[in-house]
Amino acid sequence: MRMRKKKNCAARMEHCAALRVAEPEQHKGHWKDVFGSDNPIHIEIGCGKGAFITGMALAHPDINFIAIEKVEDVIVMAMEKAMAAEITNVRFMDLDAERIEDFFEKGEVSRIYLNFSDPWKKGKQAKRRLTHKRFLDRYKAILPLGGEIWFKTDNQKLFEFSLNSFAEENFKMKNITLDLHKSGFEGNIVTEYEQKFVDLGQPIYRLEAVYTAAPL
Ligand code: SAM
Repeated sequence: MRMRKKKNCAARMEHCAALRVAEPEQHKGHWKDVFGSDNPIHIEIGCGKGAFITGMALAHPDINFIAIEKVEDVIVMAMEKAMAAEITNVRFMDLDAERIEDFFEKGEVSRIYLNFSDPWKKGKQAKRRLTHKRFLDRYKAILPLGGEIWFKTDNQKLFEFSLNSFAEENFKMKNITLDLHKSGFEGNIVTEYEQKFVDLGQPIYRLEAVYTAAPL
């Protein structure tokens, strides 16, 4: 079903223009100029309404954050949150992450966050999962060796699929938990989806995948 666009979305996007990167290709290899600093760059793919990226940007002023979200009506809410909080170390791209290697140079992004990514439950939809090899190859094109992907989900099947996918693509996994909120992990910023699952008493699965060199 096609989502109907919310009224005055364009005007709301325009109001947040200072935080929106309209032509990210132009900044490939030069993101430090966008932020005016050399700080590491972390990106979130599928930021939804932005609780995570704004919380992270406030908690980590020494990191530059970029949020990517393909649905305009959703990302505009994230941008409004960041504007209201007067956050300066975050930018937004209303785009599909399919083309991510067009936006960043190899090694330019040191960490990628995937939070509650769509599970695409049917086998024939597997290629759309953000932890499918198709996407992991794109992430490898922008991460340095040692770069990380931090992944959390409520969906056990997606978690199992992702464990295998990361392992097959030379990512070393660490800090794996099957119940994030009982794991003692510090500094977790709760996303909008996460809050819903926590309220229902459901466990959250989490891991960190480190990009390592392929064996010889
Ligand atoms: N991360 C948020 C949270 O935890 O509250 C939102 C989770 S929601 C289930 C997944 C989001 O990812 C949706 O807003 C969807 O539009 C976005 N998304 C999925 N695939 C994407 C892609 N290829 N590029 C950009 N955004 C994507």
